[in-house]
Amino acid sequence: FNNVSAPIRQLHRIYDEMNDAMIYSESFFGILKADNEKESSGNYIPTNLKGKFEIQNVDFSYPNGYKALKNINMTIQPNKITALVGLSGAGKSTVINLLDKFYQPDVGKILLDGIDLEEYDTQFLRDNIGLVLQKNHIFNGTIEENIRYGNVNATFEEIEDAAKRAYIHEQILDLPEAYLSKALLLSGGQQQRIAIARMFLKNPPIIFLDEPTASLDAIATEQIKNSLDAIKKDRTVIIISHSISQIIDADYTYVMKQGEVVENGIHEDVYKMNGTYKEIFDAMAKSLNIEKIAKTFDEDE
Ligand code: ADP
Ligand code: MG
Repeated sequence: FNNVSAPIRQLHRIYDEMNDAMIYSESFFGILKADNEKESSGNYIPTNLKGKFEIQNVDFSYPNGYKALKNINMTIQPNKITALVGLSGAGKSTVINLLDKFYQPDVGKILLDGIDLEEYDTQFLRDNIGLVLQKNHIFNGTIEENIRYGNVNATFEEIEDAAKRAYIHEQILDLPEAYLSKALLLSGGQQQRIAIARMFLKNPPIIFLDEPTASLDAIATEQIKNSLDAIKKDRTVIIISHSISQIIDADYTYVMKQGEVVENGIHEDVYKMNGTYKEIFDAMAKSLNIEKIAKTFDEDE
């Protein structure tokens, strides 16, 4: 029995290693490649990236024909935090997919510092954009490799520092193989913090945060808040979040509903419009209060 199973086990191991290597290399070059991404890349590389995006009359349908964006107009200012608010399915993540050039608009155009996004070198663009997504791109490698993806030239100390700012360093040290542990063995919330650490390490001028704390519990969210607030300063930041504090923190807000922008302005103004934003904001505030009340009960005990 052993005589048969040994070679099979060996084969399994080789297969696993091959698989690892394949996923790893694919991840390195196409970690954020969308299913149907077009291979179009311009070669424009600006000498001075300011980071102002203008979305002009953009329509977009996914390859299956679903029209996710209808006549979208947005100006994303540099050195500001722009919030995208809307119910699930409104099209918020799709906007980010387009700004990253994972997909191209069907109608209209997107400018970055006045130049059509199509003309930009895609690699240059991705080198300058930090992404933290709802579902993060953790690849089959060690924790160290997964954080290092943010900056392949980083020293180990810099990797540890990024992990500390993402409040995941201590938990990594508790693992038997510490930074050499497989990243895919981490929980969803831990993986999200690895992705945040990767972004801290990358330190890019443009940051898209798509529900960056969605898989984190309240304590982890609170811990990370200061580091996230610090990195949001003086860059182009887009935030999609269900956290009231992260939304209020924005300088400008676009409210989306069923693929359209229905309201936009600063918090006070969009709230006063008595529409979608107020509805969503009040619902978030209500659930926050419920949490607070629950906490009071805990304290009473
Ligand atoms: P949000 O981020 O606001 O929750 P999304 O931008 O993810 O919304 O999705 C907008 C709409 O597009 C939804 O109806 C969603 O089901 C659809 N959609 C998202 N991704 C795809 C895809 N890859 N293929 C087809 N439809 C998609
Ligand atoms: Mg989304």
